[in-house]
This record gives sequence, C-alpha cells and structure tokens, in this order.
Amino acid sequence: MKNSELIARDLSVLWHPCTQMKDHEFLPLIPIRRAEGVWLEDFEGRRYIDAISSWWVNLFGHANPRINAAIREQLGELEHTILAGFSHEPVVALSERLVALTPKGLSRCFYADNGSSAVEIALKMSFHYWRNSGKSKKTKFISLENSYHGETLGALAVGNIPLYKETYGPLLMETITATSPDCFFREQGESWAEYSRRSFKSMKTLLDQHADDVCAVIIEPLVQCAGKMRMYDPVYLTLLREACDRHHVHLIADEIAVGFGRTGTLFACEHAGITPDFMCLSKGLTGGYLPLSVTLTTDAVYEAFYDDFERSTAFLHSHSYTGNPLGCRAALATLDIFEQEPVLENNLQLAKAMRDATARFEDHPHVAEVRQHGMILAIEMVENKPARLAYPWQERRGLRVYQYALEKGVLLRPLGDVIYLMPPYVITPEEIRTIAAIAYEGIDIATRQ
Ligand code: PMP
Repeated sequence: MKNSELIARDLSVLWHPCTQMKDHEFLPLIPIRRAEGVWLEDFEGRRYIDAISSWWVNLFGHANPRINAAIREQLGELEHTILAGFSHEPVVALSERLVALTPKGLSRCFYADNGSSAVEIALKMSFHYWRNSGKSKKTKFISLENSYHGETLGALAVGNIPLYKETYGPLLMETITATSPDCFFREQGESWAEYSRRSFKSMKTLLDQHADDVCAVIIEPLVQCAGKMRMYDPVYLTLLREACDRHHVHLIADEIAVGFGRTGTLFACEHAGITPDFMCLSKGLTGGYLPLSVTLTTDAVYEAFYDDFERSTAFLHSHSYTGNPLGCRAALATLDIFEQEPVLENNLQLAKAMRDATARFEDHPHVAEVRQHGMILAIEMVENKPARLAYPWQERRGLRVYQYALEKGVLLRPLGDVIYLMPPYVITPEEIRTIAAIAYEGIDIATRQ
C-alpha cells in the first residue's frame, strides 16, 4: 500500500484529535506502517525520529522486545475481565509495585484507562472524602494558571489553557485559579527558586481565603507540559504541601506527563520529598503501549469510604476497562526495565546530551529561553527577544518548524512557538544531536520574515 492510499481512506472516515481537519488540505497526514526503537516508518520506507515519545507516552522505544513479550504472554492467559467483584494477578502485582515505588503514604490504587479519567477520579474522590467526613461545604478546587489536566469536562474545568477551555466555558464548574510559578516570568537575575517562592503568595492568599470551601489543590509538579513546557522550582511543591496540610485541603499531583523519570527522578514529587494525597499516573505507565491510568491515594482517604453499604459512602465510579490485564502486564514489564536497568542514571547522560546539543540556541536572536527539567527540554521562540514578545499566534511559526523537521525525518510537535524534546529513553546522544541540529535549522527558517 502507498501512503497516499491510506491517507485518502483515512480522510474520508476519520476525525483526528487536536486537529483542525481543514489543515490536512495542505498538511500531509503521515501514515505509519511500523515502528522500532525511536523510529517511526511510513508505508514508503520514510523514517522519522519520535522526538516527543508519541505524545509523551513512550519510554523504552517502539516494539520493545520485553514489553512485546509480556503482552504476548498475557494474551495467552487473560485479555480482560471485569474488576468489580473480580480480580487478577497483573492488577494486584502492579498495585503492590506502585505502592512500593510512589512516595510513602500512597497505599491504594484505583484504575481507569486514560489520564483525564484519573484526574476526574481524584477530583471526585477528594470531594466525596470531605462529604463523607461531614465537610460538605467543600466543593471547590484550586488550580494553577496555564495548567492542563485533560479534556473531559471536570479535567478541563481545573485546567486553564484558553485554547482548549474557552469554548466550553459555559459547561464547566467554576474553579479558583492561582498564579503559576512558571519561571519564564522571573525577573532578570532572579533564580527559579526565588521566583517560585514569590509566586506562591497568590496560592497562600487563596488558601487563606477559601480553605473552608476547597476540596483540593491540583497541580502538575515541576512542568506544565501542555502549557508550553513551562517549568518551576521544587520549592513550590514544598510550600504547597505545608500550606495544604495547614488548611486541611488535599493536594492532587497530576504526574500523568512528568511521572516515570521524565524530570530525572521516578516521580517529580520526589524532587521536593513530598507525598500528595492523590497521585494521577498514565502515559508512561504502560511504556506507551496501552491505555491505562491509576489514581493513588492514602489510607486516610480510603478509610473515609469504608463502611456498611446502607450508609452510602462507597465510591461508585467505574469504567468498563478498569485495570485491564494487558495494560497491567505492559506496566509490569515497564517497571521491570526500571528495576533491572540503570535507566535514571543513563538518563542523566541523555539529559546532558540534550543540554549540550541545544546550548547554542540561547544565542539565537529569536530564542527567548532554553529550559530543562531532566528529560524534558523546551526552546521558546519569540518575535522580540529583549521584550520576550511572542509572535502573533495566527502566524503559526511553530508549525513551520514541525513541517521542516518532518521533511528532515524528525517528529517534533511544537506547542505554539515552543519546540521541545521529550524523547524515549532509548534514544542515543547522536540521535539527540541530529534532532537538535534540525530543530535549529527549523527555528532559523521559521523566524525569517
Ligand atoms: N494531565 C496531564 C498533565 C497531561 O499532560 C495529560 C495529557 N496530555 C492529561 C492529564 C490527560 O491525559 P489523557 O490524554 O490520557 O486523557
């Protein structure tokens, strides 16, 4: 089959995510036939380096032999079963390992099949916990400016990116928004820690004012990924944990994008040594293979639901594919790789290679900043560097970088005018240098008149 055949068939029956479909009148869709390691290959043998881990999910490469084998083995035993009233070994083993690996105090796992649902579960559980504890006045959530937690209505409501949220405003619950600790806005000479500490004032004021009405604060620890990979310092997490404790407000850590080593540690919360009341995981959980998510919480939360049926305190939320055994086996194989190979140590070298390969970008006349937390590195393209003034969004400069990189065999998918690298951990320093060289040329071309 040729690329063009599949494209024609696709465009007559599909509606793609996060896409203005009319764009495909000039922007060719890329049909992928096979993939291996960091490489995606189309029907005519053209190859692309997956520099963004296929929307941040892939950790150990496509067609990873160990994860493939684990799924095949599981397929021979049990593909799926209901999880209400029933159980199976992969979901039990995975829960034991997640409880052991996540910050101390997280002891219960509740499963779903995508990140947004994990967030919905955390929001509902937090609200329901307070209700079961006689605090039914607590109905609100605090989240951060520029945050993203998914696109189902509850998750969208606690998000704050107008591009995704504005249209649906009339459908969404009202939330309280605190200033983001996003260090892009720090003063010259101000450190990340100083700025993040300073921006905590807004959160402190909101908690002082609203704690009695607030169930939880929800945040993406350290990197607001969909919010253009804006980053902040771990001190913010430390301050937030203390303040939430003081005000009897839950802390929900959405580690869907930053979990599983992306920021250098297995979970981003580890940078601050904190335990949230809820931790949401998905994406890398299955190594990027299958849709699975989990919301972890504490004994204290679990116990507030544990009572006689007639007291109507149970958490009755459910999804058909909750705890799917194939997904759990993929997740177990992924955790085996973390356990048996020095992944995080190797990533230190890869992160350094990313930093070194992009060091010269800082001097580009249209690059305002190169920022990095571990295996996430972002380059912010601007029209006016001294004023840090963005290009008009209608000019779609980032799209030009996307198109150029594709021509050169690299999948980059800029967020607006922010180009980022978030590759699978099996990438080589040489491949990182290739991506960086192409990104640089792409930025050069995109910022010409
Ligand atoms: N939270 C964060 C931080 C995310 O980055 C995402 C996905 N980009 C989600 C939630 C939603 O996950 P999903 O797309 O699986 O619903």
